Amino acid sequence: MIDSLSGFLDVIERSNCFKKERFESNIKITTLGFEECIDELFCPKCGDIRRCVVNRVTHNPEFEINEFTESIVVKSLPCLFKATCLQCESETLLLIYKGPEEVELAVLHDTYNGCVTPNSPKEVKYYIDQAYRARSVGAVSASMAMYRSALEWLLYDQGFEKGMLGNKIKTLEEKIEKNNEPKWAVELDIGFLKAIKEIGNGSMHTNGGDIEKQNNIDKNLLELVDIVFAELLDKIYEQPLRSSNNLSKLKEKALAMSK
Ligand SMILES: [Zn+2]
Repeated sequence: MIDSLSGFLDVIERSNCFKKERFESNIKITTLGFEECIDELFCPKCGDIRRCVVNRVTHNPEFEINEFTESIVVKSLPCLFKATCLQCESETLLLIYKGPEEVELAVLHDTYNGCVTPNSPKEVKYYIDQAYRARSVGAVSASMAMYRSALEWLLYDQGFEKGMLGNKIKTLEEKIEKNNEPKWAVELDIGFLKAIKEIGNGSMHTNGGDIEKQNNIDKNLLELVDIVFAELLDKIYEQPLRSSNNLSKLKEKALAMSK
């Protein structure tokens, strides 16, 4: 998925779009003549990389490049683009806008976002979607808090209903010690769950009056948390289904051969 302005500008760059340049008092202004391109992007509905058509919806963006400082300023904002998956036709709006401190990219999908898988429970889907939406507009601490809630719902769905998240993880740990854990937890390093809980708690608490600790939460961390969740959801909700479907197909053929 595209979740940074630089990532999206790379897509535009790869399209080899027409560029028009002019100078205003030693500052080079580059206008991109971008109309449309096809690129390989992550589609949240398909859950994988797909060929997507990227269109320009509003005017072309202008980039002001100062040749001395090499700073780049995106002018004439906001600019809106649209990416459409060629397989499932789901649409993603990409808005370049002036945020409170810098130019940012907001990514808005028409489907559940982030790493949700088709058979994840709706409560987990809800919180991962919330995490993704917060992340796509740069609200990283809010996003981390939502991943924490998604983890709590996931454990609740798996029968760990008592207490808050810390207690749920502790109960799972006790079951692992007694070799009484659910199948999906057999090879699970519980350190992943504990880390998500700790960072999630830190995203909401006063942390001894130190707001600077929030700087530990950035888009790279959230990308990693998303990957960990994707693996977890696949292991719990998708892999067992794939496995039993494959087994049924095999058994059917084996039966046909034995007749
Ligand atoms: Zn798709």
